[in-house]
Amino acid sequence: MVPLLTELLGLPGIDVESYEETEDGLILSVEAYSDAARCPHCGTLSRHLHQNHGYLVRDLPISHYRKTWLRINRRQFKCSMCGKPFSEDFEFVGVRRVYTDRYAEVVVADLIHSDTANVARQHRLSEDIV
Ligand SMILES: [Zn+2]
Repeated sequence: MVPLLTELLGLPGIDVESYEETEDGLILSVEAYSDAARCPHCGTLSRHLHQNHGYLVRDLPISHYRKTWLRINRRQFKCSMCGKPFSEDFEFVGVRRVYTDRYAEVVVADLIHSDTANVARQHRLSEDIV
């Protein structure tokens, strides 16, 4: 765990485990600190870890000029009650989204005062995504 980065990131229930600087920006490897998740099928709290899988989402820059991504370790559990596997969900990123909710909010807020081409340039995103 990297306490300072976990604090700066400020996402509930999330620890920054490690970080990596690339030419493009900063990648923070994050994971929920709870060792359990609730089964969406039957509501049982499960601690039976089935497997891990990581994916990248764009987040707000930690410093103003660097792109920041989260490499989220989304854990898959196997429910001890109903036996079904399930993956944990995070309240700060929508299902199958490649950016966090708070990042999307900032892009949308910028669009109110600007246009697609400008916002795309400013965030170094494609106009399609914006
Ligand atoms: Zn279950």
